[in-house]
Amino acid sequence: MNILSLVFDMSCLLCGTSDSFSEKYGLCRKCAFPLLFHEEKGEKCHVCGHPLISEFEICMRCRNEDYNFGKNHYFWDYEGTAKTVIGLYKFKGQRRIGRFLALVVYRYLRRKGLRNVLLVPAPCSPARLKKTGYNHMEAVCRALKGIYGIPFAAVLRRRRGRQLKKLNRQERKEELVDKLYMTAGDARNFRVLCQDKNVFLLDDIFTTGSTASACAGILKENGCEKPDIITFAID
Ligand SMILES: [Zn+2]
Ligand SMILES: [Zn+2]
Repeated sequence: MNILSLVFDMSCLLCGTSDSFSEKYGLCRKCAFPLLFHEEKGEKCHVCGHPLISEFEICMRCRNEDYNFGKNHYFWDYEGTAKTVIGLYKFKGQRRIGRFLALVVYRYLRRKGLRNVLLVPAPCSPARLKKTGYNHMEAVCRALKGIYGIPFAAVLRRRRGRQLKKLNRQERKEELVDKLYMTAGDARNFRVLCQDKNVFLLDDIFTTGSTASACAGILKENGCEKPDIITFAID
């Protein structure tokens, strides 16, 4: 490693500034704090979190869906800096941001007084794993465990399949049910681990809720009543 890359490695991935925060989290204070302290305003759907447009409590889409999860907790809209930061982490291999994302989750859990939590990272596709070399939501869970002691169970797996982006809503659902699974050993462990725990599935982006619902469905089949979802951004 040369000096330049060392210096580079400590500076903010968005603006290039170095401070103690950027060393640790990949973002300087000035860039990180608006995300860290952001609070969503306005009327939101109680289930998915999308803004309500002349609807009461629950949006039209959620009224017509029977999700396997209870509620989606999320932090940002998928735009601007939030979108850039998630993209750097998910697509550009900027793993330092994983610690920042862990901090965001930890603050949220504390602020909401959520205790006795068990996190389950959404599995990434084999294609993405091959491309970036790391399972990005599992890495956030590892940081949450390592730094804050919050346990997780990486029990969901995904088989190789078609790219979800290219499928319509119905095809997406079928593809997910087909491709997501838990091994028998993981299922046995999970049944024990999830007892009396507040189980949250952790995923990056919430779009239609079909991925989250398919993942939650498998957790339900294996002993967890109705997990909630935590996502970083809603699209
Ligand atoms: Zn910065
Ligand atoms: Zn909704």
